[in-house]
Amino acid sequence: MTKGILYTVSAPSGAGKTSLVHALVESNPEVCVSVSHTTRAKRPGEVDGLNYHFTSHEQFESMLEQGAFLEHARVFGNLYGTSQQWVEQTLNSGIDVILEIDWQGAEQVRRLMPDTVSLFILPPSLPCLRQRLTGRGQDDPEVIAARMEEAMNEISHYVEADYLIINDDFTIALAQFQALITSQHLRQQFQAQRHRELLSALLAK
Ligand code: GDP
Ligand code: ADP
Ligand code: 5GP
Repeated sequence: MTKGILYTVSAPSGAGKTSLVHALVESNPEVCVSVSHTTRAKRPGEVDGLNYHFTSHEQFESMLEQGAFLEHARVFGNLYGTSQQWVEQTLNSGIDVILEIDWQGAEQVRRLMPDTVSLFILPPSLPCLRQRLTGRGQDDPEVIAARMEEAMNEISHYVEADYLIINDDFTIALAQFQALITSQHLRQQFQAQRHRELLSALLAK
């Protein structure tokens, strides 16, 4: 069984990473997205187990002590973490995994798993980012202000990523994201593992 590929997707809040990742996963059965644990309050419309595993502070701390997280970070005053076991099992079953995580988490994952492919998504401008955060209509004005304030710090970490996509036109950004996934599957090492039998047959004397 060929192991799946692990991706991290980071971006300032509101750049469109959740929308892009969901659109990508919908049309790719061999790619799925990890559902993070978070201590953040649920937004209207969010579903426990689907958007996040909404977790109490105590429960998060206890999972942390048990080593349940592949990575974790404090973002906008809330704790977020990725389940180690789920990611490992899914990769081992041959499915690609996308982690929608902040730059601190991406750094931890790259250190632990150097084969990780990291993507950074940028908005076309700061006013546009603000407009998307406001237009999403799910955060209070103070929360939006805090996220705008943090945006520049998050954006400054684009240099650590392998790939960069500007999410201006959604359709174009999605096609670029799809092209990135396809290109990873065409890498010689990945293809050689997946097509072992073909290669042995082609090279048999
Ligand atoms: P959004 O970016 O506006 O969708 O806001 P969220 O509240 O969903 O996410 C807040 C921040 O937490 C973002 O920077 C995410 O990248 C980050 N984040 C979400 N899940 C995880 C996780 O499992 N681990 C880490 N390290 N960061 C996460
Ligand atoms: P993130 O997960 O990075 O915080 P979201 O995926 O929630 O961002 O997107 C923020 C808002 O911007 C959503 O309302 C979404 O529908 C909108 N959006 C995302 N991409 C685009 C785009 N290319 N053009 C216009 N609006 C977009
Ligand atoms: P939101 O609370 O708006 O859903 O997410 C805010 C930020 O938290 C996003 O930028 C997202 O990337 C980050 N985030 C969500 N889940 C995780 C996670 O499991 N780990 C890390 N490190 N960051 C996360």
